[in-house]
Amino acid sequence: MTYPCGIIRDLLPLYIDDVCNEDSRDAVEKHLAECEKCRNDYEAMKNTGDFVERKKESFKDMKMETSLKNVKTRINKKIRNIILGAIAVVIVFTSGFYLLFETAIKEVNLGEVSVSAKVHSLESQRDISTEEVTDSESVTIFSDEEDNSEIVNVKIPEIGNINLTKNLIEKYGYATVVSFSSEYFLRNIEMETRDNTIYITGFKTTLLGNRAENYQKQTCMLEFQEINKIVFVDDKGMETVLWSR
Ligand SMILES: [Zn+2]
Repeated sequence: MTYPCGIIRDLLPLYIDDVCNEDSRDAVEKHLAECEKCRNDYEAMKNTGDFVERKKESFKDMKMETSLKNVKTRINKKIRNIILGAIAVVIVFTSGFYLLFETAIKEVNLGEVSVSAKVHSLESQRDISTEEVTDSESVTIFSDEEDNSEIVNVKIPEIGNINLTKNLIEKYGYATVVSFSSEYFLRNIEMETRDNTIYITGFKTTLLGNRAENYQKQTCMLEFQEINKIVFVDDKGMETVLWSR
């Protein structure tokens, strides 16, 4: 016996999902073989079912993709944080280094520095002693671009070879090598030159310039003037002669 279409229609979802009992399945199959209308409904339902399945699958893919994206985003954030952290570390170290090396932070007392000077005439090289000179150093100094006068090599003790134009020699006539000896690297010497006298108002070093005791660091300086006196002026204006000719 064959069942009415309504009953078959109710059974179709179970039949499609393959969860109905044997009798129901036989009844549905028998009915579908005879009834074109229910057969069409069956085909439509089956396809709809497939569609739902496909949707479910693509939804799963989407979820997978989303979670992958989340993982990627998290990894990107981690990498970004690592890079930012590295940059911060570099900045901190660089500025720390800069502060220690380049910023004068320690005043060096007058008693911790010894000063000497040698004045050399550039006009006559016979006044220039060459015994302390190392020939590896050579510097060329021009007064300006229009100075086309002959270049003269002058050997100056403690400084080395200096190439000067004849114009410069005529203009200055003298070179004074000033040497400062201290256990510190003197990075900043506050000084002013006037009336053939060097007035020093302070010696400064940096924290890392602070060396072990007995370490003698010599700082040399070249003045193209005939220096007769080097004077230290303290903050009260008191003058102490450090060297004189
Ligand atoms: Zn039917």
